[in-house]
Amino acid sequence: MLISDLRQRLRALGANPAHESRVLRLWLHSLPLTGGKRPLEGWLPKAVLEALPGLMADLDGLVALRSEHPGSDGVSARLLLGLTDGQTVETVLLPRDGVCVSSQVGCAVGCAFCMTGTEGLIRQVGSAEIVAQVVMARRKNARLKKVVFMGMGEPSHNLANVMDAITLLGREGGFAHKQLVFSTVGDERAFAALNAAEVKPALALSLHTSDADKRAELLPRAPRIAPQDLVDAADAYARASGYPIQYQWTLLDGVNDGPEELDGIVRLLQGRYGLLNMIPFNSAPGLPFMRPSWDRARAIAAELSRRGVLTKLRDSAGQEVDGGCGQLRAREAVGRP
Ligand code: SF4
Repeated sequence: MLISDLRQRLRALGANPAHESRVLRLWLHSLPLTGGKRPLEGWLPKAVLEALPGLMADLDGLVALRSEHPGSDGVSARLLLGLTDGQTVETVLLPRDGVCVSSQVGCAVGCAFCMTGTEGLIRQVGSAEIVAQVVMARRKNARLKKVVFMGMGEPSHNLANVMDAITLLGREGGFAHKQLVFSTVGDERAFAALNAAEVKPALALSLHTSDADKRAELLPRAPRIAPQDLVDAADAYARASGYPIQYQWTLLDGVNDGPEELDGIVRLLQGRYGLLNMIPFNSAPGLPFMRPSWDRARAIAAELSRRGVLTKLRDSAGQEVDGGCGQLRAREAVGRP
């Protein structure tokens, strides 16, 4: 179901835009169908009131918890969620009251270090299914304040659904716009949509290397845009939106952690309005990469910061539950718990 289908359904019952907002907020905030302190009678048409229980049941059925894998920090957890057609996506509860949602089942970009990329694109995740992941996360953490689009899929390949979800979350969902984070490998259509958007999210740009040829090998079906041009486009958006860019770098032992790459990062990012998130690779069966030692990663981050590129070393939530992006789904597919 799309958010536009939901609005259509409400309009057919006599709802106006204010009624639609009221109903959407009931869903987004899991409010009681009585309306709580402000009873719904008198605020919604009778036909909408009568249809509400069925409508909410349909929305609640968009995602179903298949399994939950808590992290050792007691806060983060990976959720495997079933969609109505039997497909599955992963949603991650992050430390510091965030959630990472999936925008596609599978992914066409095919990053060489990503389990999701190995299966190609299976289908788009609808805008209401994206929002349903956030609703489920908020039921598990009432303080939820940040949504990052960094789960399975490339958001710019499902642009209309992702931007619809972002608009709804920013307008009715109670999220500050800069707490919605659009993550991309870089795509001209995405830059155009973000610049034109009413709700402007923060932007995360996956770089992974400063070398155009190596990037074509690591991200084989990402648009061929030179790293310099990607950073220029991202930097322009950062200055227009007022939010710094989060440049993403999956650190692969012996692949993108050498001195020439560090020089390349400094050349690209020094003086930019943004920061570099360096994430040591999560080892995964069947993927031909190694995770560098934490000490080595720490030394790289320190060197970059010293050379003028603000660098944060991060561990991806779920490392300790053997659940990098796409791994839960892959494990279920082969019958492993
Ligand atoms: Fe797709 Fe992201 Fe995986 Fe690359 S890292 S294949 S863009 S899901």
